[in-house]
Amino acid sequence: MSDEKKNARHKASMEKQKARVDAHIEAADTERGVAILLTGNGKGKSSSAFGMVMRALGYGHKVGVVQFIKGQQLSGEEIYLREQCPQVDFYQMGTGFTWDTQDRDGDIKAAKETWAVARPMLEDPAYDLVVLDELTYMLAYNYLPEQEVLEALENRPAEQSVVVTGRGGGSALQEIMDTVSEVKEVKHAFQAGIKARRGVDY
Ligand code: ATP
Ligand code: MG
Repeated sequence: MSDEKKNARHKASMEKQKARVDAHIEAADTERGVAILLTGNGKGKSSSAFGMVMRALGYGHKVGVVQFIKGQQLSGEEIYLREQCPQVDFYQMGTGFTWDTQDRDGDIKAAKETWAVARPMLEDPAYDLVVLDELTYMLAYNYLPEQEVLEALENRPAEQSVVVTGRGGGSALQEIMDTVSEVKEVKHAFQAGIKARRGVDY
């Protein structure tokens, strides 16, 4: 095929694609905050959530971040937000959490304390974006009452967006979220014996 023909085909295909996209943009007429679930076994859930934090901060939006993980492993995002972004409300479950089922009561207590920080954010229209990192495990382990969490997510202020990360999470959670992305693991460096890397993995 001649270059000229190839270019003409490409142009026609692009025009079609543009028309399709424009039609979709035209059809999307609802303006409100969105609820996003980032799940699956591949790497990229929390980092995507923090990418949205950066986007929101670019517009001067008010951001709250609550991490439902134990606070032993410091992460770059925690250091950066705590030190450089005093405008971001950052909270981490902290040392109370062990992942140790033998201390289930301690875990539940820590989960409830953390939820007590997250919940008011979901009720406060001042927040444009709320990130609930690794929340899904709290539901999977029944550390938090699912119905209460789902209702809080659903009943948040209309303009507020929320991002939930973590593997699993269950079909009821998927049902109420507007956007659900599953990060699929194709392969991970860890399987080749490569150590988790500062600034990339944590
Ligand atoms: P990230 O924070 O890098 O976006 P994630 O939120 O998708 O990862 P988590 O399950 O929260 O994934 O795991 C956090 C840590 O575990 C990161 O250091 C990440 O690189 C690593 N990790 C994620 N997925 C895998 C995997 N499939 N195999 C091994 N390590 C993984
Ligand atoms: Mg994560």
